[in-house]
Amino acid sequence: MSLYDRFEAAFMPNYGVPPVALARGEGCEVWDVDGNRYLDMIGGIAVSSLGHAHPALVEAVSRQVATIAHTSNLFLHEPEVLLAERLLGLLGGQGRVFLANSGTEANECAFKLALKYGKTTGRTYFVAAENAFHGRTMGALSLTGKPSIRDQFGPFPVDVRFVPYGDADALKNAVTDECAAVFLEPTQGEAGVVPPPDGYFRAAREICTAAGALLVADEIQSAIGRTGHWFAHQHEGVLPDILTLAKGLGGGMPIGACVGFGPAGTIFAKGDHGSTFGGNPVSAAAALAVLGTIENDGLLEHVRTVGAELADGIAAVDHPLLGGVRGRGLWRAIVLTSARSAQVQAAAQRAGFLVNALQPDAVRLAPPLTITSEQVATFVAALPAILDEASRD
Ligand SMILES: *Cc1c(COP(=O)(O)O)cnc(C)c1O
Repeated sequence: MSLYDRFEAAFMPNYGVPPVALARGEGCEVWDVDGNRYLDMIGGIAVSSLGHAHPALVEAVSRQVATIAHTSNLFLHEPEVLLAERLLGLLGGQGRVFLANSGTEANECAFKLALKYGKTTGRTYFVAAENAFHGRTMGALSLTGKPSIRDQFGPFPVDVRFVPYGDADALKNAVTDECAAVFLEPTQGEAGVVPPPDGYFRAAREICTAAGALLVADEIQSAIGRTGHWFAHQHEGVLPDILTLAKGLGGGMPIGACVGFGPAGTIFAKGDHGSTFGGNPVSAAAALAVLGTIENDGLLEHVRTVGAELADGIAAVDHPLLGGVRGRGLWRAIVLTSARSAQVQAAAQRAGFLVNALQPDAVRLAPPLTITSEQVATFVAALPAILDEASRD
């Protein structure tokens, strides 16, 4: 039996069977179990910030696992303290951190902070955006504005009202002094890498401040250099009350973080929340290696440069299936003129590139932040033939 058949027989059917079985990676390249090589243009969904087997990550994780791998939250350790301080430093210094293991857990922490804030201030509902993705656990799922993955698991414990993403007037109308919190992605990721109109996030900040609602920025996909800034909300120069992070933070090791600013940093009292694994030393050491490498290697600047090369290169391709390109930095969607993203993903794979058919008409690119200009150029050069093949299938 092939590995694919064994996967199908052993696992729950929630993922279907993925199209490639990966065996190893090095830099921005990965190899499948049959020895085929691919340029990794999706980076484990914006996770493998430093690519694969990066020496800094290997060194940090190896050293930490050989020193002490786990303490639980009954005991503290230096890597988690260094990491929290480092994150706060990148965010302007003021705030408090909770460390979790994943994106949905980071949002679960934000959800509970907002619930407690609502209960103590008489605020009864949350606002989130249509098509938003915030995760799969029950709190995060209740905020996820995608009926196909949400509705069958309801009802949910909180009234969540959904507004069209990017419409500041609709947001303003939805946020009253009975609203506890507004949850927003600065650019919607799973919805198709969809940026809002300029000024939307700033308007959201003003609306929340005026109504006394918490603004929660879900930067689980957009943070840690992905857009060419440490955090996407920094493009608009506004600070949320609560920020959630995960994907790119650990460079492949599981870690999530929820940061509360100002009074939102001290909503929890002792005993209100916790995680056995959250902020474990190995993941914290990995995150420190990721942040240190981004800074030392000037990767934010690099992301802006190669991200523009990627977008400009795609935009310059003249093809009937190509509708355009959107997103920022190394976080892009190739927009198609018809619903052929699955065919594009398959054709790209045959040509040696891993991309993600995110929406029927949108293909996501989120390569390692370390991808080179030459590698980007290889992909751009291959794109016309990939689109040709995807049009024929
Ligand atoms: C991926 C993602 C999540 C969920 O993260 P998991 O680690 O899969 O639980 C939440 N919000 C956004 C914006 C995401 O992209």
